[in-house]
Amino acid sequence: MDKTKLLVVEDEPTLLETLKYNLVRQGYEVVTAADGAQALPTARAERPDLVILDVMLPGLDGFEICRVLRQEMSLPILMLTARDEEVDKIVGLEVGADDYLTKPFSMRELLARVKAQLRRVRILREEFEASGREPADSESSVSVFTFGELVIDESRREVQRGGEVLALKPKEFDLLTFLARNRGIALGRSLILERVWGWDFDGGSRTVDVHIRWLREKVEVDPAQPARILTVRGIGYRFDG
Ligand code: CA
Repeated sequence: MDKTKLLVVEDEPTLLETLKYNLVRQGYEVVTAADGAQALPTARAERPDLVILDVMLPGLDGFEICRVLRQEMSLPILMLTARDEEVDKIVGLEVGADDYLTKPFSMRELLARVKAQLRRVRILREEFEASGREPADSESSVSVFTFGELVIDESRREVQRGGEVLALKPKEFDLLTFLARNRGIALGRSLILERVWGWDFDGGSRTVDVHIRWLREKVEVDPAQPARILTVRGIGYRFDG
């Protein structure tokens, strides 16, 4: 079985070595980058399962790297930060990190966070497999979904609520269809971005939030109290059929 591969981006040599040593001991395969310029090419070439990313780096900083990674691939990103204002930025989800640790941190804490993020991704994957549906996308069979007052007709690319046709933009329709096809499953923002917008999309995970808001305003009876498109804290969204 393939080992889980982690990319560690850190410019302090001692910390980088310590991280690598401990992660390898846990059975992970570890690839490293020591500055911002190396980080992206390494991530593209190695396709890691998770990235540990320092914020303060020479060259491209961790925020910038995180933003680009988010657009290109779907994987957990754990950021290492030294300052409070950096935490604010990460917590504000402006860069799309999944978790962060403030320096100095204990190795035990780091390993626990890494494990938790990997478990989260694995659970998501297993849910898809258990549901007998590969995270469904537009290639799957075309059909009409009915959820109470809501009718989604994929072949006509039309959505009705209570018999009334809703004016959805193309991306809103794609997003709604993706959610509906995977109803009952919590979908992460990065997965939604990847499946609805594609890897080449030039935007961040906030794009998902914005489109969800627009969609709720059209689809939900009461957008402030959504009954169909629910927020799953710490993950993303779930469609309840
Ligand atoms: Ca640093």
